[in-house]
Amino acid sequence: MDERIQLLDTDITMLAVDAIVNAANNSLLGGGGVDGAIHRSAGPGLLEECRQLHGCPTGDARITKGYDLPARYVIHSVGPVWQGGRAGEEELLADCYRSCFRLAAEHGLQTLAFPAISTGVYGFPKKKAAAIAVRQTRRALATNSSLERVIFVCFNRETREAYAEALGQRE
Ligand code: ADP
Repeated sequence: MDERIQLLDTDITMLAVDAIVNAANNSLLGGGGVDGAIHRSAGPGLLEECRQLHGCPTGDARITKGYDLPARYVIHSVGPVWQGGRAGEEELLADCYRSCFRLAAEHGLQTLAFPAISTGVYGFPKKKAAAIAVRQTRRALATNSSLERVIFVCFNRETREAYAEALGQRE
């Protein structure tokens, strides 16, 4: 399974994949971090389509077109804000990945790129988040043979190290 998983140090908005995942907020109307970068690169069409969606609950995901991005689609998923770990945050983050993979399967997507959802402003510990991302991705790859490649975008060194550890690699 892991041969279909790739770590990439890049800006997710540069990737010409079937879909990039956005770490969105409940409004789906844009924000900072990766969300801001995606909206800036996609152009105003993305915000217009997002307005029609009327938000998204935490743990769930919505799909839109990619507009000016090289990616065909954007999957907007809303991660939990880390509150210390006793508010169901780990399960909610797993729900995010499951929701994204469900949409990927429904749309027959073959290549998918994720940012480290919730690990920026939302404060989720990077190692815990990487372990959840890897576990759900391995499950999805085991059941969805159309899914050719899942990319984890590492925007900083701690994120890369967290994924490498979760994948059982040593760097
Ligand atoms: P959240 O609110 O879910 O924590 P953030 O956007 O603050 O979302 O951070 C999520 C992750 O995305 C962090 O690891 C952050 O470093 C990373 N990130 C920020 N900008 C980009 C980008 N352009 N491409 C890929 N990852 C990014």
